Parts: sequence; structure tokens; C-alpha cells
Amino acid sequence: MISYTYVRAYPRRADALTFLDIWSSPPLVMNGHCMFKIQEYISFRDLNTFKVGGSARFLADVASIKELAKAVSFAKERKLPIFVLGEGSNILVSDEGFFGFVVKMNIKGKRFNFVPNGARATVSPGENWDDFVEEAVQKNLYGIENLSGIPGSVGAAVAQNIGAYGTEVKETIESVTVFDTDSMEEKTLSLSDCQFGYRSSYFKSEAGKNLIVTSVTFALWKKGGVDIEYQDLKKFFREKNTPSLYTVRQAVLEIRKNKLPDLSQVGTAGSFFKNLVVTNKKYKTLRKKIPNLPGFSLESGEIKIPLAWIIDNLLHLKGVSKENVAVYDKQAIVLVNLHNASAKEIYNYAKKIQKQLKDVVGVSPEFEVCFVGEF
Ligand code: NAP
Repeated sequence: MISYTYVRAYPRRADALTFLDIWSSPPLVMNGHCMFKIQEYISFRDLNTFKVGGSARFLADVASIKELAKAVSFAKERKLPIFVLGEGSNILVSDEGFFGFVVKMNIKGKRFNFVPNGARATVSPGENWDDFVEEAVQKNLYGIENLSGIPGSVGAAVAQNIGAYGTEVKETIESVTVFDTDSMEEKTLSLSDCQFGYRSSYFKSEAGKNLIVTSVTFALWKKGGVDIEYQDLKKFFREKNTPSLYTVRQAVLEIRKNKLPDLSQVGTAGSFFKNLVVTNKKYKTLRKKIPNLPGFSLESGEIKIPLAWIIDNLLHLKGVSKENVAVYDKQAIVLVNLHNASAKEIYNYAKKIQKQLKDVVGVSPEFEVCFVGEF
């Protein structure tokens, strides 16, 4: 059992050197200040939007590739698992914490290179995703406006291939630079190398575990068209003027505000599950049992079934709570921490819903949220 009662900052106290004193490299010093420190037993609670979880055994705020390499070396020398943390908006951290090394990604920087048809934007993973979207829209660049208001960092947005209102981030990505924790070198991957899928990428797979995103290059357009095909956006613009790049961003922000919890008030990680993707044959079989089951055709020929609809209409769980966790009353795919929920309570409720979904449609949905630590 880990004791969480103290916090150590390198190298504040002599008695804090249990692990750290055997680390030979000194901390990075810039302008006389210690810029890079490895901390021990840092509570996760204020580092994730669910506001739950135990402590990180080690954590370092990493602001450069040099610091990243130092952090990775430290973890590798001690055979510690590494978890890269962005803004903690898509994770559920175990109440027992994480017995490994947390790299808090804080590499910042944005560069726009304008070309005749648009711009190439090279963005560091520690940048806030929505700040980047806002800047792109201000510069009149199309491509990511439908992804407005999504919480989290640029690095996490790419690793997760975030999507909303018919747009996925992969559609604007040209290349991704990564730090390979095996070779300890940076390399650049093409779009196809990234193996983007529905809310997934190579970086989230077992095979890509050794890659940490260090920079992303997006291709954005000057004269793109807006996409308002999703029902909520269509409805928003029904009696209004032709949507512009700017008004689409405003619309998405407003729709999200009315449908999703305010992170400053409520603990949540947004969508807890991924929508179901089934074969056309399976969908037809399900429709015989559930005639009004909605489904959207994908390019792959498969059918995407909105899980929120099932949780609401078949499980009748919208707004229903269990212990200190609830299915959000405005969007049933979202779980919320009502009042000091434990990670275990959230996990148990999610597992229960997952099982009920399996019983109803015969398919177990995947979790969109990433689990950190043991469950
Ligand atoms: P919604 O409009 O209530 O629709 C429910 C689901 O049906 C969505 O998840 C969406 O799948 C799918 N859908 C709806 N219209 C579609 C269409 N015309 N073509 C294909 N699929 C369609 O969804 P919502 O909850 O308000 O969310 C709106 C968008 O924001 C969605 O794209 C959703 O993914 C995104 N969002 C993401 C998060 C997150 O945490 N990652 C949280 C909230 C909302 P898709 O999810 O595949 O788009």
C-alpha cells in the first residue's frame, strides 16, 4: 500500500532522496532556477476533470524534448511504466493511484506557415486544443471549427483522434512528430503511419506505446466550406443567415454548452463509451428486434449506432444515479461525478451499463475513457 500523506519535490529535502539520490543526472537549471523536477506522490485529483484518483508515484512537468528525454531515462532505469498526461479530460485514475512515472506534457508552441491555399500549423502537444481552434478560426482557416470547445491538449486530441459534428482531427493532420522511448530519438510519422480510426490511433495501441507525440503539423484551408450536416447544427442554422467559419464555431460552443456539463462545476470525462460500430447484417438483425434503432452508415460500409440513444431509450438510465455517479441528464453517454465519487464507484457504474448494453444489443461497447492504474 502506498502512503499518500506527503509530497516531495526534487530535491527539496534530504530525506526525499530514497529513489532520487541514485539518479545521477542533475536537474536542468535555467537562469538560476530549477526548471525540471521530479515530484513524488502527487495527487491526481486536480490533474483530471473527473476530480478523482490517488497519487502518481513520480511526476515531472516536461517543457522540452530534453526534459522529456530525462524523464523517460529516469523511468526506464527504474523499469517504471510511463503515462503521458495532457489536461486529464479523458481519463479515470484508480483510487490507488498510478505506480509509475507521469509525464505531464507541457511542451508549448504554435507556428502558422501560410501558403497560397491555406496554412500549415505546427503545434506542440502541451497546447490547449480549443485555444488552437480559436486561433485558426481567427486567422480564417477552415478544417477544425467543428471541433471547437473540446477539452484537452493538442497531443491528446491527436492520440485519441477526437471527433465531433462530422469532423475528425485526422482529416487535417499532415504529419506527427514523436519521441520514441525505445530509440530515445524523435521521428516524423506520415498520416498513414498514425493508423487513425474511430477515436483511436497507433499511439493508443499496444504497438505504439513507445511513441510520445512531440509536435503535430496540420494543413488548414483558406477557402474551405463549413459542414453543418449534424442535426443540432442544422437546427441551429435553420432560420439564420448562411453559416460562416466564425458562426459555426460559435454554434458548436453554444450547443456544447447546453448539452454537456460545465467542467468548472461538474466532474466528468465527457463521453465515457465509444459509439457502437457494427456490420450492416448485425444492424439489420438488431432492427428486427428494435425497429426504431438509429444508425449512421460509415464509409467502411459499417453502421454506427449512437449509444446515448440506447442508454436513454432502452436502458432508461438518463439522469439515473448510483452512489455518487450519474448518467448525465442532458446526454446519456456522459457519466458525472455528483459529489466526491470514488474512481471505483464510477468504474462500477460504467461496467454495469456496459453489461446492460451487451444484454440488450449483444455487443459490448468499448470505453472511450482511458483507465490509469489498477481497476
Ligand atoms: P448527437 O447529435 O446527440 O448524436 C448522437 C451520436 O450519433 C453522436 O455521437 C454521433 O456520432 C452520431 N451522429 C449524430 N448525427 C450523425 C450524423 N449525421 N452522421 C453520423 N453520425 C451521427 O451527439 P452529441 O452527443 O450532441 O455530440 C455531438 C458531437 O460532439 C458528436 O460528434 C460527438 O462525438 C461529439 N462529442 C464528443 C465528446 C467527447 O467526449 N469526445 C463529448 C460530447 C460530444 P459521433 O460521436 O461519431 O459523431
